[in-house]
Amino acid sequence: MYNYLVVGAGLFGAVFAQQAKVAGKSVLVIERRNHIAGNVYTEKVEGINFHKYGAHIFHTNNAKVWNYITQFATFNRYTNSPVANYKGELYSLPFNMYTFNKMWGIITPEEAAAKIEEQKKVITGEPQNLEEQAISLVGCDIYDKLVKGYTEKQWGRDCKELPAFIIKRLPVRFTFDNNYFNALFQGIPMGGTQSLLRTCLMELK
Ligand SMILES: Cc1cc2nc3c(=O)[nH]c(=O)nc-3n(C[C@H](O)[C@H](O)[C@H](O)COP(=O)(O)OP(=O)(O)OC[C@H]3O[C@@H](n4cnc5c(N)ncnc54)[C@H](O)[C@@H]3O)c2cc1C
Repeated sequence: MYNYLVVGAGLFGAVFAQQAKVAGKSVLVIERRNHIAGNVYTEKVEGINFHKYGAHIFHTNNAKVWNYITQFATFNRYTNSPVANYKGELYSLPFNMYTFNKMWGIITPEEAAAKIEEQKKVITGEPQNLEEQAISLVGCDIYDKLVKGYTEKQWGRDCKELPAFIIKRLPVRFTFDNNYFNALFQGIPMGGTQSLLRTCLMELK
């Protein structure tokens, strides 16, 4: 007889189970996949920790959270700074001064803001679809190169056929900062996340 039955050995289930055990409770964790770690699962492929369900980076501004999770694994010093490849042109994400410098050759935030303002003017009135909404937020060049293809691939539809409300805002930074999460603490467990979760769950035994 257990105090708790936890359904799912993802991050939430594992952390709850570990904390319950620390509090003196008995816990049974069940999982329907053939592995633990849920969506943060990694498996070794040719010596690399492959993130099977999409790349996952741990990030938080909360020292208590970071101290908790790092007791189960050693983390690397990874900072998420994505790069978009548009037909061989590489752009920093999220949109920031490095992106604008590459796009337009400009240097100052004022120049970047003026460029976006100028391009936004092609949309007059209320945006009628996602394309018009995106252009009204970031202008034509950023939309054409960095929003359109990605969004159409994700949704499987032309941006003109998607409703405007899907994109409420597109984060734009007028600083030279491509640190995506902007979090004080970030990294990836060096042995893979399934190894981190295994260590976390081991205390249950
Ligand atoms: C592509 C992608 C990238 C992401 N990147 C990041 C990132 O970089 N940083 C970040 O902080 N977050 C990221 N996230 C979010 C992160 O994946 C989730 O917040 C986190 O995995 C949620 O953990 P969880 O335990 O709640 O759920 P899950 O990881 O989904 O785990 C739930 C588990 O429960 C199991 N389960 C469900 N139903 C049953 C059942 N009936 N019986 C038995 N087992 C069951 C499932 O099989 C699964 O293993 C990303 C998400 C995605 C999809």
